Amino acid sequence: MSLAELERHREDINKCFRCNLCKIVPLPLIRDVDFVSACPISSHYHHHAWSGSGLQFLAHSLIDGRLEASADMAEVAFACRVCGYCDVACKSIMDAERSGVIQALREHLVDAGFAPASNRAALENMRQYGHATGVAGTRVADWARVQGIKVLPEQQAPVLLLAGDELHTDPAAFAVLQKLAALLERAGIDFGVLADEPASGIHAWWAAGREMFSQAAQAMASEIAACGARTVVTASGTALGMLRAKYADYGVSLPNIEVRHASELLAELLRRGKLRPQQASRPLRVTYHDPCFLGRHAEPTEQWDGEVRVAFGQLRYEEPPKAVRYGTRGVYDAPREVLQSLPGVELVEMPRIREYALCCGYGGGGLPEYAELVDASGRERLREAASVAPDVLATACGFCAHHFRATQAGVDAPGRDLRVADLVDLVHAAVFPS
Ligand code: SF4
Ligand code: SF4
Repeated sequence: MSLAELERHREDINKCFRCNLCKIVPLPLIRDVDFVSACPISSHYHHHAWSGSGLQFLAHSLIDGRLEASADMAEVAFACRVCGYCDVACKSIMDAERSGVIQALREHLVDAGFAPASNRAALENMRQYGHATGVAGTRVADWARVQGIKVLPEQQAPVLLLAGDELHTDPAAFAVLQKLAALLERAGIDFGVLADEPASGIHAWWAAGREMFSQAAQAMASEIAACGARTVVTASGTALGMLRAKYADYGVSLPNIEVRHASELLAELLRRGKLRPQQASRPLRVTYHDPCFLGRHAEPTEQWDGEVRVAFGQLRYEEPPKAVRYGTRGVYDAPREVLQSLPGVELVEMPRIREYALCCGYGGGGLPEYAELVDASGRERLREAASVAPDVLATACGFCAHHFRATQAGVDAPGRDLRVADLVDLVHAAVFPS
């Protein structure tokens, strides 16, 4: 079944000519010779197999029958942080889908029984407990009732505040949720939370559990449809990417539902004067890390149902032309607008930003089998952040923040003195100064 899914990508796979540009920042955009590499696994393993292109070649060997699925192949494929960088970088020279191939390759390896142990455990936890960590998150609805916040669908509100899966990994994500709720209340937004929020599916997607992910997407879509809200707001970068883009890739839609990241709503509320930030007691230099799922992975794809034709015996083309996801339509401007709206904040950009941002290293779920790679990737992003000498490393995804803090705790980690904060933390501090 999943090999057929891989076969569907043959045209894209065939187009890889091993130019290696998927490993680096596009030449015209290189701003610093020190920060040119951008594929976390290529930078760590220094072997072509561990790269976007290497994974295309593994996929090619599978569909042509030159290699069979194996534990060795899975070891390479699950090292990939599924950050989507190679996909965007390759599209700076050609219209070819790389992320879809990598995901289909991993799904095939899961089906063939070769996923790493922690990957299998994540899927099993989802099956048993509904969440990949097996750890119950804070009961958001219990907290909401105590706070007098509406709980949907028992009550009705036009806006659903979605907590996201980060709550099951890091309690800090709950504090972000609480602060966002306070900001929405201050702005006069009528909102509520779900009585029993299901998993967004990010862990199933990371673990390449195709069926599990489809089920999670369906469950979330049903909950949202039944709750009566017409707008979903979340501070979770991964939830945003799931709802805005990945669900549709698996045929799950959210009809008539607007999905907004907290940064998009906060930017609007600040612009309209619904939130009034106070002058900070001292200037703050802030750099911003673009989360993969809020950026590259948040761009929706239009489903294509055409055919590949051949002209002049060798020129292959798609009819009708396939819409291409370049990664440029992710959420990049709103977080920057929010930061620039805060009095006293100076935004200082890292060399690798927006669709060419480096992954924090947690993509894929931070599997323990790859602890060294995951830590090295986090260190590299912290080193880059420290290079622009900020006071704060801001982000907009609880998993990125969690991973940066964990990496900072390591021996000799770069950027140990940087304060890691969510955008919501910074807006809350400016609107409710202590
Ligand atoms: S995936 Fe794209 S950028 Fe990477 S080697 Fe192949 S053709 Fe070049
Ligand atoms: S998705 Fe990210 S980690 Fe994986 S091959 Fe592409 S750039 Fe490298």
